Amino acid sequence: MDPYNRLLARKQELEQMTGTLQERLMTPLAETTDELSLYDQHPADIGSEVFEREKDRGILELMQLELEKVHDALHKYEQGRYGVCEVCGQAIEPARLDRMVNTTLCAGCARQRQDSFRRPAEEEVLIAGDMSDRGETFQVAGYEYFESGDGSSSG
Ligand SMILES: [Zn+2]
Repeated sequence: MDPYNRLLARKQELEQMTGTLQERLMTPLAETTDELSLYDQHPADIGSEVFEREKDRGILELMQLELEKVHDALHKYEQGRYGVCEVCGQAIEPARLDRMVNTTLCAGCARQRQDSFRRPAEEEVLIAGDMSDRGETFQVAGYEYFESGDGSSSG
């Protein structure tokens, strides 16, 4: 399949997925848990429902970002600028385009950009380690969530 059709396919896929997620996020919480009334449920169940919501929202944001990139790439393709690095203007490696149809950077420029985005890894590990004493940290779609312990159970 040529890149243009791959981009179109990806665009359709993303549009479908973001549509589904948006619908789910727009549904009131009470309706998504319709087997039981909200009041009958254990608080933890509602908590996990809220957590799922947050996760969905994070994923939706990432998908929308990708969709934007796909739109961009399609636009470039139509103008005959597809496959050209937007930073250095060189042709992007075909193997790289094959893996990421919507990339706008050559391998070299992408690496440089990644380096400037990267935060000190040691610091993140330390914070996560500290948090795990009180609860658990979750890494969902690049977003970090912290779920506190359910209080101490006295017996
Ligand atoms: Zn480049």
